[in-house]
Amino acid sequence: MLPSTSNAAENMRVRKTVLSGSPHSALRYATQQLRAAGLKVTAQRLCILELLRRPTEGSAHLSAESIHDRLRQEGRAISLATVYRVLSQLEACGLVARHRFLGGHCIFEIANTDAHDHMLDVDGGAIVEFSDPIIRLRLQDIAAANGYDVVDQEVTLYVRAAAI
Ligand SMILES: [Zn+2]
Repeated sequence: MLPSTSNAAENMRVRKTVLSGSPHSALRYATQQLRAAGLKVTAQRLCILELLRRPTEGSAHLSAESIHDRLRQEGRAISLATVYRVLSQLEACGLVARHRFLGGHCIFEIANTDAHDHMLDVDGGAIVEFSDPIIRLRLQDIAAANGYDVVDQEVTLYVRAAAI
């Protein structure tokens, strides 16, 4: 559903509510993204997008529970159910990507970042991105050798801190 001009007043109210304590440019960008995706601009959608976009360490890949905890710590009244619902909406319109790891662990990140894969620290839960063009080419070769083109790929390494 495309936002109409009648939403302008409401959008302003939402933005005023969310703007406090957050970088304006990040919110402006999140607002543009929601509109481009045809989603109504709401405080919940904005604050979750803004949180996932924060350049601070650990913000890029977050579980729904972590997002909920962080927003609550920042004083936002939002339920875990709402966080899940908004994340599903953002995923459905391509703004957010969901990654499912073994054991049911699920994390979310902003979609359309450069192609990359992940490693998951099985002890601490940290997520590290990596990208290796040689691995990608090799996987394409393997698919081609079996008569396929790769349409999507996701490589996950489950890792543990190496003993020193
Ligand atoms: Zn990632």
